[in-house]
Amino acid sequence: MSATPPPVDAALHELRRLVAFPTITRGPNLELIEHARERLEGLGVPCHRTFDDTGTKANLFASFGPTDRPGVVLSGHTDVVPVEGQDWSSDPFEVVEREGRHYGRGTADMKSFLAVPLAMAEWIAGQELKRPLHLALSYDEEIGCVGVRRMLAKLGEYCATPAACIVGEPTGMRVMTGHKGKRMLRCRVKGVAGHSSHPERGVNAIEHAAELVVRLRAVARRLMREGPFDEGFDPPFTTLQTGTIRGGVAVNIVPADCVFELEVRHLPGHAPEAILEEAKAFAERELLPEMRAVSEEAGFAWEEVVRYPGLDTPVDADVVKMVSGLVGEEAPGRVSFGSEAGLFSGLGVPSVVCGPGSIAQAHRPDEFVEREQVARCQEMVERLVAQLATA
Ligand SMILES: [Zn+2]
Repeated sequence: MSATPPPVDAALHELRRLVAFPTITRGPNLELIEHARERLEGLGVPCHRTFDDTGTKANLFASFGPTDRPGVVLSGHTDVVPVEGQDWSSDPFEVVEREGRHYGRGTADMKSFLAVPLAMAEWIAGQELKRPLHLALSYDEEIGCVGVRRMLAKLGEYCATPAACIVGEPTGMRVMTGHKGKRMLRCRVKGVAGHSSHPERGVNAIEHAAELVVRLRAVARRLMREGPFDEGFDPPFTTLQTGTIRGGVAVNIVPADCVFELEVRHLPGHAPEAILEEAKAFAERELLPEMRAVSEEAGFAWEEVVRYPGLDTPVDADVVKMVSGLVGEEAPGRVSFGSEAGLFSGLGVPSVVCGPGSIAQAHRPDEFVEREQVARCQEMVERLVAQLATA
């Protein structure tokens, strides 16, 4: 049993091990999860896994200390974004250090945050905690917080409702109290194929999709001009954009199919349902009658691909005071990227985002984390453990 926490080098060593698991989103993460589980269970720390349908990916929920009392969750994702098409100076899955910067895929987003408590696990397990510290490692976060939901569905079986959650996305160790929510939708437009000399006998799926895309664009413009606004965010309004569109076979055939995908990133206090209903109503009212006059088969099919809520933790909430105290007083801010913090919050677990590294390095070639950031994260965890051991 160790009386003092390990040096920061132990966290950096653990980071090297975690980065070496190429846990790209959509691929398996089980080796990383088993590595963490073996370490934790070897120390007597109870672990729970929840798997995806294929059994090749898992979440891990581990608890130090008494689980019947409200504790604090450190939550982070194990998946990383792909490296294809990126110009890296060295192997993205082998951490190299240059002048205090540790380069590798996931060093900032967000394996450093996972490496710190894993490297400190033996020390934490040796403390007499009055309240628990939980580690929540999830899969497939980068495609819309997909994995963590299966773990959250079981949270009530694992422990008393936690008093706080810190999601360790890279914020430079600043406390962030809010982020936007997201909806991603896919719209399939079904038309009727025909010879291009007779477009009136077919239903042109591309053109109907285009009319709908233009309408969505008008909604986006209105949101930008008229709000609602929240100056804590950049940009301070809900945004909407069409990101992909595919359709058509040849220019002399009336296209029967067109698929486009749109994304809404909404202010936490602004429910996007009304915007989406407005677009759907426009399609039904203005476009569908003309399409159905040619064929009953023609029309629109909507599918929601991704949904996660925004985060809007009040700046005077206890979790904000607690984490601000742990990292040294700094005015809390808000971030433009999403996380699972809104999902924890929705379960009644007050949450903030705070982790080592910069989002400016995330998802980029030569992603890195600075040693100083890892040291600050370790300090935060040390102070948190000390608090959990006293009350
Ligand atoms: Zn991330």
